[in-house]
Amino acid sequence: MSGGSVTFQNLTKRYGATDALVDFDLEIGAGEFVTFLGPSGSGKTTALNILAGFTHATSGEVLVSGKSVLSLPPERRNVGMVFQSYSLFPHLSVFDNIAFPLKLRKVPKAEITSKVERYLDMIQLADYGGRMPKELSGGQRQRVAFARAVVFEPPVLLMDEPLGALDLKLRQTMQLEIKQYHQQIGCTVIFVTHDQGEALALSDRIAVMGKGQIV
Ligand code: ADP
Repeated sequence: MSGGSVTFQNLTKRYGATDALVDFDLEIGAGEFVTFLGPSGSGKTTALNILAGFTHATSGEVLVSGKSVLSLPPERRNVGMVFQSYSLFPHLSVFDNIAFPLKLRKVPKAEITSKVERYLDMIQLADYGGRMPKELSGGQRQRVAFARAVVFEPPVLLMDEPLGALDLKLRQTMQLEIKQYHQQIGCTVIFVTHDQGEALALSDRIAVMGKGQIV
């Protein structure tokens, strides 16, 4: 896997009278680790959701590896996403949660099994494939969410406050793991946080957000 470049051009999103993003412009190089840092309500999540395909832009453009993605459905954008709340499917086992993006992409069954096993190893939960999400700790669930976001080896990985629900020690461990993963895989990462220390620990570059723009 290697990274894709990401370009936001004049991206604007209005919710009624609220401007969530205003002419948001940013170029992110292939393989770069960029963090959106800013207070609550500054438009960080909106920018990620438009890139991932969960929210429609009011105007503007988003390119991945030079191609517009705005008319593509989320599963065709090759973008992985990790949320703050683990958002695992509660009725699916750990194995099936991680397998889900591969099934969606109609990957052959044998390849699904070998990939899921490889990523279970990577997150150090090799023996946990048969467990249900409710049988895991918070940190373990977030590892599974991470594996599910990267198992299809997307060139772009989005993380929206992925460590926000974890205690300090676990946060620091996961920060290291995310950093190592990024160094090994070379995918482009856009990471959202309101924690300056976390932003400085992880990023190649930090975009400080305020009121829907980079300040
Ligand atoms: P951040 O991620 O930086 O906390 P958001 O992107 O979630 O900020 O929100 C930016 C602005 O858009 C905020 O003022 C927020 O209230 C508003 N907003 C976000 N989502 C919606 C929505 N679905 N409906 C109305 N307003 C929204």
